[in-house]
Amino acid sequence: MEYYDIAETWSRDQIAGEQAKRLRALIQRAMRSPFYARRFAEAGITPDSIKTVDDIRKIPFTCKDDLRQCYPYALACVDRSEFVRMHCSSGTTGSPVAICYTQKDLETWAGLMARGMHAVGFRKNDVFQNMSGYGLFTGGLGIHYGAERLGMMTIPAGAGNTRRQIKLLKDFQVTGIHILPSYAMHVAEQVRAMGEDPRKLPVKRALVGAEPYTEETRRRIEEMLDIKVYNNFGMSEMNGPGVGIECEAQSGMHIWEDSYILEIIDPDTEELLPDGEVGELVLTNLTREGMPVIRYRTHDMTKIIPGDCPCGRKHRRIDRILGRSDDMFILKGVNIYPMQIEQVLMSMPEVGQNYLIRLESDGSRDTMRVMVEMCNANFADDIRQLKTLQERIAHRLFDEILVTPIVELVHANSLPVSEGKAKRVVDLRGENGKA
Ligand code: ADP
Ligand code: ZN
Repeated sequence: MEYYDIAETWSRDQIAGEQAKRLRALIQRAMRSPFYARRFAEAGITPDSIKTVDDIRKIPFTCKDDLRQCYPYALACVDRSEFVRMHCSSGTTGSPVAICYTQKDLETWAGLMARGMHAVGFRKNDVFQNMSGYGLFTGGLGIHYGAERLGMMTIPAGAGNTRRQIKLLKDFQVTGIHILPSYAMHVAEQVRAMGEDPRKLPVKRALVGAEPYTEETRRRIEEMLDIKVYNNFGMSEMNGPGVGIECEAQSGMHIWEDSYILEIIDPDTEELLPDGEVGELVLTNLTREGMPVIRYRTHDMTKIIPGDCPCGRKHRRIDRILGRSDDMFILKGVNIYPMQIEQVLMSMPEVGQNYLIRLESDGSRDTMRVMVEMCNANFADDIRQLKTLQERIAHRLFDEILVTPIVELVHANSLPVSEGKAKRVVDLRGENGKA
């Protein structure tokens, strides 16, 4: 294995040893924040309570609401003059959470990000275009600093303005990009709409993340652009992107365990789950000094992939995120994740790149309408053909979710495209329907 950081070569024992040491230091540090000082006092936690990594389970979880209440500074473990940057979560599920970083925190984060980018195969001679929003969103500057740290020329293109993005990709012979999955498909479609072949773009590799997507979508993006796509996961509460990232094996995202403690719990009982079982991801920042977050309930549903990665790194891997526990909706008593729908749609070549799920109610009955973009090449005027396709999609969806949806076929590129995270579900059922 060609590694960037010596920590990538650590054995399980080395990782565990380092985690225990860092966890003890973390507890000392966290006590300086108003929030954790109170939390630990309430739970009877003192530095002596924590000796091994397993002792972390004595510490109560931190929830998103706790962090919202800490806004803006109650999580701070250092004097405010030490902070040099702040970011916010995107606010996908409510009011945002703010995180402030010290100089050292930014350096650690850039180092982890660069490590991940190196594991994906990026090198100093790559030209890298960051096609996600800058500003408060961590996917901008977070990725940017990592890319520069690795030594790549980095183009801060930001989100949107697709024509300019495409021009930059070509003019600067960009070989690497960071992009959201929904936007990647949109860009490819736009290149096609310009009468060009997106496979001819100079890009070779993409980091794709910030929102859930399926294996089918990955393959589609790879095929459309003739590139390799690597999944990249993170959240502002844990710095931002680069918490979990795939290596060249593309078989799950390594969580850098020298910097994060990883747990998967049953979201209802809060019990720790064994490797291989799907539950809620809980993360702890081991290395952040400004505003560390301990045992954070991410609401992201996934599992630890058992066994070793072919790449040889011993940092454990998590599977693709199924979605947030809050993304799940209930229709006619069935629990459904949008990704189950995406998986079916993106495996059908007649289906285009975008879809939208609308939950509707006529007062007595709930229905799910799935609006599906058709593939340009396959668009037929023949009503019978369209009807057959519609039925086929409905059948395939029923097999996956056990509810029959109304399928509505729409023209390619007619559904809204977000510059940020895609909104996949619109719930029009009113309060009653959400039960
Ligand atoms: P918000 O939680 O408000 O969207 P962030 O911008 O910090 O704020 O986003 C973090 C969240 O984005 C994660 O908790 C997760 O739900 C989602 N996310 C990030 N990367 C991925 C990914 N690769 N796959 C699936 N979901 C992801
Ligand atoms: Zn690996």
